[in-house]
Amino acid sequence: MITSSAFAGKKYAVLGLARSGAAATETLLASGAQVTAWDRQDVAREAFVGRCELADPLEIDLTGFDGLVVSPGVPLNTHPIADHAAKFGVPVIGDIELFAQARGDLPRHKVVGVTGTNGKSTTVALIHHILQSAGIASRLGGNIGVPILGEEPLPEGGVYVLELSSYQIDLTQGLDCDVAVLLNITPDHLDRYDGFEAYAASKGRLFAMQSVNSISIAGHRDTARFELNQLAEINQFIENVFHPNTIAADEQINWPSLQGPHNAQNAAAAIEVCVSLGLSVERVRDGLETFKGLPHRMERTATHDGVLYINDSKATNQASTAPALSAFPPDPAINGGAKRVHWIVGGLPKEDGLGECEEHLHNVAAAYTIGEAGPRFAELLEGRVPVNRAELLSDAVAQAKANAGEGEVILFSPACASFDQFRDFEKRGEHFRQVVAALNSAEISQTGEAA
Ligand code: ADP
Repeated sequence: MITSSAFAGKKYAVLGLARSGAAATETLLASGAQVTAWDRQDVAREAFVGRCELADPLEIDLTGFDGLVVSPGVPLNTHPIADHAAKFGVPVIGDIELFAQARGDLPRHKVVGVTGTNGKSTTVALIHHILQSAGIASRLGGNIGVPILGEEPLPEGGVYVLELSSYQIDLTQGLDCDVAVLLNITPDHLDRYDGFEAYAASKGRLFAMQSVNSISIAGHRDTARFELNQLAEINQFIENVFHPNTIAADEQINWPSLQGPHNAQNAAAAIEVCVSLGLSVERVRDGLETFKGLPHRMERTATHDGVLYINDSKATNQASTAPALSAFPPDPAINGGAKRVHWIVGGLPKEDGLGECEEHLHNVAAAYTIGEAGPRFAELLEGRVPVNRAELLSDAVAQAKANAGEGEVILFSPACASFDQFRDFEKRGEHFRQVVAALNSAEISQTGEAA
């Protein structure tokens, strides 16, 4: 675990004892801080009984506290804790801010911070993979699900690679990333912000926190819509990274887990980060070629009877489904150039309309609508592509399987959140895998091809 003398003798309150809150509490206690921690669930509090004060920060006098640590899941725009902390002049912070404050005690290291609406996890996993395969010690942390404070400190020369959501940036005041990346910004999470500009400004703060000699990398296409000088000076635009003298765009064909235009963007960002950290082009190229990808993101789940099944359950908004739809255009060598995507779409709607998916409907052979958003998607798509109203994911897969022929693709890229029918996008993706496996093994045993 990461500890620091910066916290010794100080007083903190922690609200929310899930993974990042629990790790923050452990770090603070081990660093000699006085902690008052709380979670409304008894089980979450259990680990801290007898080890620190247990009280709801909302109910107590916060005079003299140095910080109130909250989980990024707490909606600061509506939750009363923000006003309560402000009354006592106590800063509301997150575990990433604690990490920033602890850096002074860590062996010499670098920090890479990656934000953006889509592609963060893929990009940080790719950077981590390239660094590790080049023999550089690195740690992944932040929004990717690993609380960075719970990790062992890296030896001298290591690189911390942090995935940062805008909620985490909102809770961070002093993280000076040696290299910061803003991949893209499209409308998302607008329930937590006072409009799109405010959401974009939140992401822009990652650059604002950097010191003068640090490197900042951004996607031009999206960030050009904002006053770039508000975000700080950008050293490199993602669109300019590929170059015939270094790594050329047409090399993407050699990166099996980084297909599609969106992954070209992620790869470009990772290349620029790693080159800025001093890696040679050859090392970076090796890493791109050997990267295995992350589950639930354009994951090639199976091929049965020549039909490719893709699990893209992580696509929870239209901007992330659009590149998935664009990845399989009609190909004259396959079925005479017929449309080949059987698109399973729906879940808990985040936005109305088809958004950027609209531009790729010419690739869609048929759509299968599921979940709460299913009827609305059916309404939007009918008359434009053949629509099958399915409701359940298992029915949608069965219908798509009945329609799809050799060379075609069954693409589960829902463009919606999962919470109407599943605990999270991971459970939804696992369910898709199971349904695909069950449907196909049933068929194999019926036809006697397998025992
Ligand atoms: P995040 O961590 O930002 O949610 P992920 O890497 O987990 O991003 O990818 C989330 C979804 O977005 C996946 O469906 C993926 O196919 C899609 N995606 C990945 N990179 C990008 C990108 N650069 N632009 C748009 N969509 C992307």
